Amino acid sequence: AAKRAGKNQYQFFTQTMQQEISERISLTHDLRSAVDNGELHLVYQPIYRLHDITLIKAEALIRWQHPTRGNIPPGTFIPLAEESGFIIEIGKWVFNEVLHDLSTIDPLRLQGVQISLNISPVQFAHPQHLMAFIKRLERSNIPCELFCFEITEGLLLEPSRVVQDTLKTLKQAGIKLSIDDFGTGYSALGYLKKYHVDYVKIDRSFISNLGEDNYDFILCRSIIQMAHELNMQLIAEGVENAQQENILKVINCDFIQGFLHGRPALFSTLLQQIDQQTLEQLSQPLLIAETK
Ligand code: C2E
Ligand code: MG
Ligand code: MG
Ligand code: MG
Repeated sequence: AAKRAGKNQYQFFTQTMQQEISERISLTHDLRSAVDNGELHLVYQPIYRLHDITLIKAEALIRWQHPTRGNIPPGTFIPLAEESGFIIEIGKWVFNEVLHDLSTIDPLRLQGVQISLNISPVQFAHPQHLMAFIKRLERSNIPCELFCFEITEGLLLEPSRVVQDTLKTLKQAGIKLSIDDFGTGYSALGYLKKYHVDYVKIDRSFISNLGEDNYDFILCRSIIQMAHELNMQLIAEGVENAQQENILKVINCDFIQGFLHGRPALFSTLLQQIDQQTLEQLSQPLLIAETK
């Protein structure tokens, strides 16, 4: 009986594995038509300066509304796109979409709020379309300084010649660099300095238990301290409550991103938030003058 159970178990595993594989193949296939059929769109999540909750950046995040399966999260389809190389096409689509959104407004309306884009390591291995994006910006009225590329620390560990040259060109053009999901990989800050990284984003997994887990607290505090000594600024990801926010203030974090102050939303919503903030800033000196 034990032998039979063992055999069944084995069949069960191969069956789920088989299902998983065909699922991945079918999603990879569907992704190719998703671009042409307009099933993708972008949302923007605000990033705030911690001491006064001023909006200073927004991260563009991709969304896929599948015709029969509904919303498929990027955590599911981005790795498939990376494996198949289709991430290059997705990356081009993201650049086009962002430039389209920005073309609908005067860039001055952003009030210097930077747009952060997630760039896969696969895109760095084939950097022609990254270069094409820079050239397009240089021909437009949108400054390169308005953009920040979010990369993962793995890219900087042992970068190829191509990757090093690409990073150099991006920095020279004025593009800012963020290290995404910091703490989940190698977590060495020293080599980040070499590539003139501007921002380090502490991964959400270290923020979520900040109030309860002393280890996470110590880790975040020392990451922030070391990064500051190397002239980099810190963004905490996934800040969901006031307790996390308060602790981050105590340990001198610079910026926060998370559901507490802002969820990913349409470009029009981001613009509304920026406009409102601009109005508030304009009316502040007036209020002080009136009360004198
Ligand atoms: P990421 O770059 O680390 O993006 C942050 C993720 O955390 C986003 O998930 C965001 O919605 C989520 N998040 C933000 N604040 C909170 C919070 O307070 N609580 C919780 N629970 N989650 C929060 P999302 O949009 O599902 O994206 C997942 C990942 O997919 C991204 O992680 C990024 O690695 C990748 N991705 C998204 N868009 C793109 C893209 O255009 N290109 C590439 N290459 N990757 C992308
Ligand atoms: Mg990111
Ligand atoms: Mg992240
Ligand atoms: Mg992440």
